[in-house]
Amino acid sequence: MTMRYRRLGTSGLQVSELSLGSWLTFGKQVGDDTAADLMKLAYDNGVNFFDNAEIYSRGESERVMGRILKRMEWPRDTWVVSSKAFFGAGGKLPTQLGLHRKHLVEACHAALQRLQVDYLDLYFCHRPDPNTPISETVWAMHQLIMQGKVLYWGTSEWSAEGIAEAHAVAERHHLIVPVMEQPQYNLFHRDKVEREFAALYDTVGLGTTIWSPLASGVLTGKHSLEGDASSRLRMAGLDWLRERELNEARLRIVDRLKAIAEGMGLSLPVFAIAWCLTNPRVSTVILGASRTGQLEENLKAVEAQDLFTPAVMRDVENTLKE
Ligand code: NDP
Repeated sequence: MTMRYRRLGTSGLQVSELSLGSWLTFGKQVGDDTAADLMKLAYDNGVNFFDNAEIYSRGESERVMGRILKRMEWPRDTWVVSSKAFFGAGGKLPTQLGLHRKHLVEACHAALQRLQVDYLDLYFCHRPDPNTPISETVWAMHQLIMQGKVLYWGTSEWSAEGIAEAHAVAERHHLIVPVMEQPQYNLFHRDKVEREFAALYDTVGLGTTIWSPLASGVLTGKHSLEGDASSRLRMAGLDWLRERELNEARLRIVDRLKAIAEGMGLSLPVFAIAWCLTNPRVSTVILGASRTGQLEENLKAVEAQDLFTPAVMRDVENTLKE
């Protein structure tokens, strides 16, 4: 498998088409050895972006990743690491959450410590914050970049309107603009990436680091309505996720998509991830995995994207409409 790279929006940074994230896995579902095996497998296959956030396992995910990055001794100029601020790392006081200058600066310092790095390559505003003016957030991000603590900043699950406003503020004051957004994108969840952001790609040049390409595993075909026993969808406290992602209508579509995938000689997870890559607006697809075998399989998606002919794309559209 040869990894391919795409520019992150109009920035000059090139990220691997597939990247690796740690939500629900590092510091939670998998032990440190598995986390290390996953990162090594990814890196050895050309993955150059590892995604993280202050809230993932309340800071523990960043600690695990930081220890692995240190132990691996990969040259710092060969990988990109992110953090995201908004939800806090456990504390729930108003000073400990949100996108105001105080939290963005303190969350950045805490992430640098947990990840054991001198700078974050990517720093995301994890959600919009209705209690902070966008101009305060833009200034805070600009200042962190000026201080050398962050290289690129962006948003996650913001509206097109919010992103456009952030650009307008940055341009008015000659500040560094956000270059990437992290939205959910998969065969079940397309609206934001395909419709809402459509005007932004050519105007502000948005890059996208998309999440949950397999809808938390539903697009692997392994789930029944109760959820596969060894999966995140059966983990304590994640009933909300199972209810959001798993239902009969989706399972019926999964069966039909599986038939298309099999006709192409692909497994359903590889098919579903490769489908995301057929959208040129996607800069990188962030993978999640709880076992190395899953990641090994999913990495095949880079080459599988070449099999998506116009006829296959039509079949997919018809299946999703049924
Ligand atoms: P996916 O939708 O791809 O789900 C990954 C999970 O699906 C795995 O952990 C595994 O779970 C199962 N799985 C993956 N591959 C296979 C396979 N080949 N066979 C069987 N099961 C498989 O991605 P995530 O939801 O994990 O999201 C990816 C990353 O995106 C996160 O780690 C995070 O970095 C980012 N993210 C960002 C968000 C944001 O708000 N910005 C929100 C959510 C995620 P299991 O074994 O438990 O079934």
